[in-house]
Amino acid sequence: MKIIMLGAPGAGKGTQAKKIAEVCKIPHISTGDIFRANIKNGTELGAKAKTYMDKGLLVPDELVCDLVVDRIQQDDCKNGFILDGFPRTIPQAEALKAALTAIEEKMEYAIDIDVPDENIINRMAGRRACVGCGATYHVEFNPTKVEGVCDVCGDKLILRDDDKPETVKRRLDVYHEQTQPLIDFYKKEGILVTVDGTQSMDKVFEDILKVLGV
Ligand code: ADP
Ligand code: ADP
Ligand code: ZN
Repeated sequence: MKIIMLGAPGAGKGTQAKKIAEVCKIPHISTGDIFRANIKNGTELGAKAKTYMDKGLLVPDELVCDLVVDRIQQDDCKNGFILDGFPRTIPQAEALKAALTAIEEKMEYAIDIDVPDENIINRMAGRRACVGCGATYHVEFNPTKVEGVCDVCGDKLILRDDDKPETVKRRLDVYHEQTQPLIDFYKKEGILVTVDGTQSMDKVFEDILKVLGV
């Protein structure tokens, strides 16, 4: 199964993608996670990406496309994969399509998790990320067992710098301008499905499984 997660920042792409990846036994490929790992490891790519991420802007297409195209051709992607946070622009979607067409493959589902802007600011302010393993929580909607401590690895939780309200507003503008057009792109490709992302996490997941027929 080859799946793309679409949706505004904070719509729940990462939360759902992890669960889908587990059930479908396919790798979860998050470009945001890849950039954050590069920043943590002090790579050149990380340093370049950080200047854009801190401002709430997209990292330029040329830094993203090759990375993803290489990743999806690795062995563990043979039975499919789930893309979370990519593509985010029409040129990225075109690059993905071209890379797959070249090996006679195509994406099968683009799942748009629909959440209005009003809900997003709250979601982001309450999002907490583990510095150790990258697991994501929410102070109200998905709290850890012990406050501030990751359930998975025991490391500490932080509020991402780019989840502060000023940056979230910018990221929403960027989303509407550069990423939302992908909804039409995948509608035309005939693979778009929309789920109501304002529901509980479990209900959203249930709706997605129905769409995927698993
Ligand atoms: P969110 O959880 O809000 O959807 P991500 O973790 O996916 O955010 O991405 C964080 C930041 O990383 C983005 O704001 C952007 O700067 C950068 N980024 C991630 N994926 C891409 C991409 N496909 N193209 C450009 N920039 C990206
Ligand atoms: P994205 O990857 O789209 O940026 P996340 O999956 O990281 O979004 O979710 C953003 C925040 O909202 C996280 O703190 C997450 O725990 C929380 N969240 C995700 N889905 C829901 C939901 N259906 N209802 C309430 N909160 C949610
Ligand atoms: Zn952790």
